[in-house]
Amino acid sequence: MIELSNIRREYRMGDTTVSAVNGIHLTVERGEFVAIMGASGSGKSTLMHVIGLLDRPDSGSYRLMGREVSSLSEDELAVLRSRSVGFVFQQFHLLSRTTARENVVMPMLYSVGRVDMARAEKLLRDTGMERRMAHKPNELSGGQQQRVAIARALVNDPELILADEPTGNLDSASATEIMAVLAELHCRGKTVILVTHEADISAYAERVITLRDGMVVSDERKRAGPEHPISNTQHPASKLDVRRSTFGVPLLAHLRRGGGLIHQALRTLRANKVRTGLSMLGILIGVGAVIAMLALGTGASESIRKQLEGMGSNALMLMPGSDRDRGIAAQAASRITLDDVRALPKEVPSIARIAPMVNGSAQVVYEGKNWNTQVTGTLPDYALIRASVPQVGRFVTEDDVLQRSRVAMIGLTPMKELFGDRNPIGSFIRINRISFQVVGILPEKGADRWRDQDDVIIIPVTTAMYRLFGKDYIDHVSIEIASEPEIDAAQTAIKNVMCRRHRIPPAKAEDAFTIRNLAEFRQMLTATSQTMSVLLASIAVISLVVGGIGIMNIMLVSVTERTREIGLRKAVGARRRDILTQFLTEALVISLLGGLIGVALGWGIAAGMSQFAGWATSVSLQSVLLATLFSALIGIVFGLWPARKAALLNPIEALRYE
Ligand code: ADP
Ligand code: MG
Repeated sequence: MIELSNIRREYRMGDTTVSAVNGIHLTVERGEFVAIMGASGSGKSTLMHVIGLLDRPDSGSYRLMGREVSSLSEDELAVLRSRSVGFVFQQFHLLSRTTARENVVMPMLYSVGRVDMARAEKLLRDTGMERRMAHKPNELSGGQQQRVAIARALVNDPELILADEPTGNLDSASATEIMAVLAELHCRGKTVILVTHEADISAYAERVITLRDGMVVSDERKRAGPEHPISNTQHPASKLDVRRSTFGVPLLAHLRRGGGLIHQALRTLRANKVRTGLSMLGILIGVGAVIAMLALGTGASESIRKQLEGMGSNALMLMPGSDRDRGIAAQAASRITLDDVRALPKEVPSIARIAPMVNGSAQVVYEGKNWNTQVTGTLPDYALIRASVPQVGRFVTEDDVLQRSRVAMIGLTPMKELFGDRNPIGSFIRINRISFQVVGILPEKGADRWRDQDDVIIIPVTTAMYRLFGKDYIDHVSIEIASEPEIDAAQTAIKNVMCRRHRIPPAKAEDAFTIRNLAEFRQMLTATSQTMSVLLASIAVISLVVGGIGIMNIMLVSVTERTREIGLRKAVGARRRDILTQFLTEALVISLLGGLIGVALGWGIAAGMSQFAGWATSVSLQSVLLATLFSALIGIVFGLWPARKAALLNPIEALRYE
C-alpha cells in the first residue's frame, strides 16, 4: 500500500538545516497496524505528514497504492487525501460551535460536495457516541472528542488511517478506549499507522517502527501475520483518480452546493453577529446614502422636467435689470412698458407670441370666503405660451385688454377654496375689493417644488396695471420665437430694440435688461444634474470602497483567527479553491446583506423625505439593482485578498498555528 524509498525532508532555519526525515525506506502492506515510535523530534510527525499527503518530501519516491505521488500538485494531493486518508490528531482539531454530527460530515463537503447526515450518525454510533451527536466540542470530554475525530476520519471511507499521538492528550482510561476503536478499525481491514511514544499504546500494533534522527533504527513485527482476512482485491481505481468527477454533474447539484456554501457562510457570520453587523455597516450606510441621494436627484430633475415641458422650447424671458441685481427694484429707465410689448413684435418679426406679466398677490373674496392668491395680468398669447387655455369658459381677449375689463380666469386652487363644488363661471368675486366676473377656469398644472401652480388668478394686463396694482410697468415678458434657429438673432434684436426705446447706451445694455433662454436654462439644468450625478457617483464609490476596506479588514482578522480551521479543512481534503470559495462567499454574503439592508434604508429615507419634507423623490429600480450589484462586486473584490491568503495557507503550519 505504501512504498517509501529514500524519503528526505529537511527544514531550513537560517543557516542550519534540520533533516527531519533523513532517507527513510519503508513498505506498509494493506491492512497492517503499524506503530511509529521514537523520541520527541525524531521525525515521526514529519514522516506522517508525508505519508498522509499533507507534505511533500524534498527527495525520494513515494508510491501510494502503486501510484507515484511525490510530485503531485497541492490540489491533486488534497483530492487524493480526501479519498484515501483519514487523519486523527493529538489535539482533536474539531470545529468549535459545530455539533459532533456536523464535524463528522464536514470532509464530505470536499469529497462528494454534499453531506450525508445518516452516514455521520452511523459512524458516531459505531464509535460509541450515539448519545452525543448534537453536542458541541466544548460539551464533550477529551475521549469523546477524539471519537468524533475518528468518526470524521472515517466519513469518506479511506483505506488508510493515520493517527499522530491520538492518545497524547487523554487520560489512560480514555486512551484505552480510543485504542480499542483503532484496533477495531484494523480488524475491519483498514490500514492504521499510529505515532506514539508510549510502549503500552504501541503494544496494540502488530508492527513497531522506531525512528531516531529521521532514520529507521528498528522495525519489528510482533506477530507473524495478520490474524484477520485482508481484502487483497485491487483498490478501486476511482479512489485514485485525482480529478473530482464534476463532469456531468447536473446543474441542480451545483445549485445545492452553492446553497450549502451560503448556508455555511451565514452560520459562521451568525456566530459573530456583532462583528458581522459592524463590518457591513460601511456598505450599508454607503448604499443607503446613495439610494436616498439618487432618489432625491431623480425626483428633483423629474419635477423640473415636468415644469419645463409646459413651456415651448423656443421661449425667451425678458426681464428688467441684470442678473446680478435681480431682486433690487429695476431702474426706472429699464422698466418694461406695455408699449414696449406692443412694439417688439413689429420690430422683431421672428417673435411669434408675446405675453407680458404683471404679478402681485391679492386677497380674493366670494360670499364671505377669503383666499390669498397670486394674480397675474397678461395678454391673450399667454394661454398658448404657457399652455393655459381654459377648459371651461374663455381666456383674456384683446377687447378685455382695451377696455380694462374686470374679468378673471380662476385657477383650481382658489376655485376650490372659494366655490367648493359650485360652478364659478359668471359669478362675481372681489379681488382687493374690486369686483371681477369669473369667465374661465384654468387647466390643472399641479404643484412643483416651490409652489402650487394652480394657486393663481389671471386677468387682463391693463386691468392688473391700472385698476388693481396701480403700476405702469411690466414685471417680465414671456416671448415665443417662431423657430429655434432664430432664437440667438431674436435675442440680440430684442435687446437692441429695448435699449433704443429706453435710450440706454450700448455700454450699459448688459445691465439694463436680461433675456433668459429656455434652451440655455435647460442645458444648465442638464449640466447641473450631470455634475450632481458625478458627485453622487464619487460619494458612492468612496463610501463603498470604505465599506469594502471594512469587510477586508474583518475577513483578514477572521482568516487569522480561523487558521487552524483552515488547516483542518485542508487536511481533510479541501482544495485551495474550496477555501477560496468559502471565504469569498462569506465576504459576498456580508456585502450583499449590507447592500440589501442599505437599499431598504435608502428607500426608507427617500420615503421619509417626501413624506415629511415634501421633496419629490423617486427610487428607480435601476439604482437599486446597481447598488446591489456594486455591493456584491465590492464583497468579491475586497474579499479576494483575505480569501486567497486563506487558500494559500500551508495545511501543516495552519494546523500548528496558535
Ligand atoms: P516528532 O513528531 O518525532 O516529535 P517532528 O517530525 O515534529 O518530530 O520534527 C522533526 C524535526 O524537525 C525536529 O527537530 C523539529 O524541530 C524539526 N521540525 C519539524 N517541523 C519543523 C518546521 N516546521 N520548521 C523547522 N523545523 C521543524
Ligand atoms: Mg510529533
